[in-house]
Amino acid sequence: MSHLSQERVLSVHHWNERLFSFTTTRDSGLRFRSGQFLMMGIEVDGRPLLRAYSVASAHYEDHLEFYSIKVPNGPLTSRLARIRPGDAVYVSRKPTGTLVLANLLPGRRLYLLGTGTGLAPFMSLIHDPEVYELFDEVVVVHGVRTVSELGYSDYIRNDLPANELVGEEVRAKLRYYPTVTREPFENQGRITHLIGNGRLAADLGMPALAPDDDRVMICGSTAMLRDMASLLEERGFREGSSGDAGHYVIERAFVS
Ligand SMILES: Cc1cc2nc3c(=O)[nH]c(=O)nc-3n(C[C@H](O)[C@H](O)[C@H](O)COP(=O)(O)OP(=O)(O)OC[C@H]3O[C@@H](n4cnc5c(N)ncnc54)[C@H](O)[C@@H]3O)c2cc1C
Repeated sequence: MSHLSQERVLSVHHWNERLFSFTTTRDSGLRFRSGQFLMMGIEVDGRPLLRAYSVASAHYEDHLEFYSIKVPNGPLTSRLARIRPGDAVYVSRKPTGTLVLANLLPGRRLYLLGTGTGLAPFMSLIHDPEVYELFDEVVVVHGVRTVSELGYSDYIRNDLPANELVGEEVRAKLRYYPTVTREPFENQGRITHLIGNGRLAADLGMPALAPDDDRVMICGSTAMLRDMASLLEERGFREGSSGDAGHYVIERAFVS
């Protein structure tokens, strides 16, 4: 198990009956890039039970943070949802993933489009000073079904702009656009619809998404990624990957 480090849970926050987040200690040797994921889990029947998890904390912080779903009969999360401070979790030493800045061509605006726990990698990215060095504007769009699923909403609106390291850049460059599909809310509808029908651009007072200026990172369900990718490809965007930077990158938020 040398590829795993054993960490301790520091804090747990339950957003609602379906979502929670928690922080853990961090191995001093663990290096990751903003937006990457790693394997994380707990011991079950004497063996580590691991799943892919995006790191929600910044690459420079001395703790790790994860934002998790609670799947009622999910092998990992039905147990993980009961963790408390002091409990042990396993974290792999091999972060990976495509939602990294190096996979994008230079651009003016960065759109971070996430549904559900797909917000997690973007929580790491919006704490990264390099994001604000590379882009003039950064737009976080978080799509969920109900208002109570808008995890980190208050934090993004009220705490991040006061952050010691990136607060000034956040105040100048970050736009946050939460949207809800199944309840009344200030913004309503699926991200793909809001982009397709021009509503997002109109609400933000920005031009329609175009490959000349805009770069996009997407994290969501397989269906959301498929719809979003075809919408972007129709507009001339090209997908980027490691060693071949493009206009957009995608990562599954979970395997269905
Ligand atoms: C690259 C990658 C990054 C991931 N990052 C995260 C993360 O940051 N936070 C997180 O909670 N999960 C994340 N996941 C999903 C995670 O790996 C597990 O699937 C999840 O923790 C549930 O584990 P489980 O063993 O309880 O159930 P599983 O047997 O793994 O899943 C059961 C079913 O639950 C549904 N499901 C699983 N995860 C989610 C989810 N996040 N949102 C909605 N439905 C889901 C799917 O239908 C799945 O088939 C990620 C997956 C991938 C591939």
